[in-house]
Amino acid sequence: MTQTQDHRPISTDALDRDTFYIDGAWTRPSTGDVIEVVSPHSEEVVARVPEGRPGDIDTAVAAARRAFDEGPWPRLSPEERIEVVQRFSHLYAARLVDMAELITIEMGSPTSFSNLAQSPAPWMQVEAFIAIARDFPWEAARPGVLGSDVVVRHEPVGVVAAIPPWNVPQFTLISKVVPALLAGCTVVAKPAPESPLDGYLLAELLDEAGVPPGVVNIVAGGRETGAHLVAHPGVDKVAFTGSTAAGRTIGAVCGEQLKRCSLELGGKSAAIVLDDADLTATMEGLRFTSLMNSGQACVAQTRVLAPRGRYAEVVDALAQTVASMPVGDPADPATEIGPMVARRQQERVASYIEIGREEGARVVTGGPGMPEGLDRGWYVRPTVFADVDNRMRIAQEEIFGPVVSVIAYDGVDDAVRIANDSDYGLAGTVWTSDQAAGLDVARRVRTGTYGINTYTMDFAAPFGGFKSSGLGREFGPEGLAQYTEVKSIYTPLPAG
Ligand code: NAD
Repeated sequence: MTQTQDHRPISTDALDRDTFYIDGAWTRPSTGDVIEVVSPHSEEVVARVPEGRPGDIDTAVAAARRAFDEGPWPRLSPEERIEVVQRFSHLYAARLVDMAELITIEMGSPTSFSNLAQSPAPWMQVEAFIAIARDFPWEAARPGVLGSDVVVRHEPVGVVAAIPPWNVPQFTLISKVVPALLAGCTVVAKPAPESPLDGYLLAELLDEAGVPPGVVNIVAGGRETGAHLVAHPGVDKVAFTGSTAAGRTIGAVCGEQLKRCSLELGGKSAAIVLDDADLTATMEGLRFTSLMNSGQACVAQTRVLAPRGRYAEVVDALAQTVASMPVGDPADPATEIGPMVARRQQERVASYIEIGREEGARVVTGGPGMPEGLDRGWYVRPTVFADVDNRMRIAQEEIFGPVVSVIAYDGVDDAVRIANDSDYGLAGTVWTSDQAAGLDVARRVRTGTYGINTYTMDFAAPFGGFKSSGLGREFGPEGLAQYTEVKSIYTPLPAG
């Protein structure tokens, strides 16, 4: 679908903005502070947008509060809300290529990835949530134990603060805004300062779809602005995706205030290659699942667990695969690994490559320095480490770049033990010719999602983390339920 759209490339001359989307209007900021959006490829400023400050958040929360307390949105029937979201979905579908391109411009995602995951996948989420909302038990009677029915209602949770990260900015914003809308909530969204541009297109599409004023408000800003939003007394629920460190802070504030919160956090997922795996197919799979979005993915399979008897073979195959991935300009359709989002992220990944070497791991491809042929942009060399022990920092900490560690195991029990020896529990995969054996491994690994010979998220099913990878779930009916409060209404007991 993305290929057939009539598309003219976006000009970076026209990306500047001087307003926020608040209360259904393009609203002037409270200060003159500006976010400069810098291309991770050229290191040049490609856009300037206002930086949201506490005063802007206050205005946005007041609008969302009014829209929730007095406006029509929470009082519409689920079917009426679905109709508006369906209109939005059609409009979104027509702009997938623009959305993907904006995201590549602002945060450097390779266009091959953007045109798969940065806008088509969010649109698929919208469609999946609409289908789920149609069948959702918004109000249902069930037989009580006392002889009369109990009416159980799912009511909107209230004003939602939606805080996405920069790596998959629409994917993680749609996963909050759309279920919130379908449930009858109102929203203040705060895009990350690295990726504010896609939020403007989203605002235009919601506006065009007829979402009433104040129902969705979008103010981009940094960490302090986010913290102000989280702590704001006008917010009823926080939906956050980002680092585990920020998630802990946000969870603590929400706990103190007894605010609802869902947290989608980091990961350090393990791909278990079983003895019987077809290595060609496994490498094709890992090429994507370990290194998607230039390794800047929470679900990336960054630990590859190989049976000791095939260890050298797996290391060689992975090194060859990673070395063959084209690195460079994210706008080039052939590129598989683009730049890191920011200089600080480039430095972070480089420092982990250094740490791995100091810990005694062996670089089999990549290593320190810039990729060949590139002298600017926030690039790193895609790197595979062998001889990694699971206790090393490179095996325990989330690097968030194209760096993969290969760890040897002795038998399936040992593989499961190593996979589970992590503070994180977001995702995992197993690669095998025997699906039943794969399912058995999948059942034993303590993560919120798992793939057998694949890792393709299915929006009909819940997604989220065990352990330090988060709290709550997105997608599926479980994801929609996170935007509701449940009320039980007791009906009169039978006479006598
Ligand atoms: P981050 O935690 O630094 O920032 C995420 C967002 O939260 C940004 O909008 C930021 O401005 C805001 N923020 C930061 N601190 C805050 C605070 N104390 N209060 C309120 N808002 C705050 O993360 P990042 O570097 O933007 O994103 C990368 C991280 O996101 C990685 O750890 C990755 O694993 C995680 N992630 C998780 C998922 C998932 O679904 N589990 C998906 C994508 C990314």
